[in-house]
Amino acid sequence: MLRAPFAALALLLAVAAPAQAATELSSIFESVARDAKTLQVEPARPVDWFPVRGIVDFGEADARFGASRGGRAHEGQDVFAKAGTPLVSVRAGTVVETGDDGGRGNYIAIWSPAAKVTFVYLHMRAPARLKKGGPVDAGARIGAVGCTGSCFGDHLHLEMRQGKGTRGRPLDPLPMLRVLAGRAR
Ligand SMILES: [Zn+2]
Repeated sequence: MLRAPFAALALLLAVAAPAQAATELSSIFESVARDAKTLQVEPARPVDWFPVRGIVDFGEADARFGASRGGRAHEGQDVFAKAGTPLVSVRAGTVVETGDDGGRGNYIAIWSPAAKVTFVYLHMRAPARLKKGGPVDAGARIGAVGCTGSCFGDHLHLEMRQGKGTRGRPLDPLPMLRVLAGRAR
């Protein structure tokens, strides 16, 4: 006996609610749009960046992390791009090492306290301009793709080392690189 009035009430609410909600939402949207204009909100800066700012190729099996290289395991992922393509810092951090040797060529290592890894960029076209101990913003330019050191074609060899410094356990950077490459920016 009591069901009918409740059913009628429920029906009334169902009909009335969407119209009311739409009005409220549109007025909220209007006020948000007004506030955004007056506040001049800065666009958010991403906290992680794809390290190569150009057209890239992850290469074949021998470019992968763990590939056999003359009896040793390849400790990074190669990212092929034209010489001179800008390299940027994946994360904000500190320069912990730069150098130039026969194997790595011109290289730079950036420690990210947030990610707890050190990103190491090898074979850069020119010696790193950033100084050891200096801070680096996420997305800041740190060099350019080249083929210095032991290299077989212009590319970035990127290493991701656990902890601070270039001696930590190497991790496979490819899953992270694929995620970052898939983002439109
Ligand atoms: Zn490599």
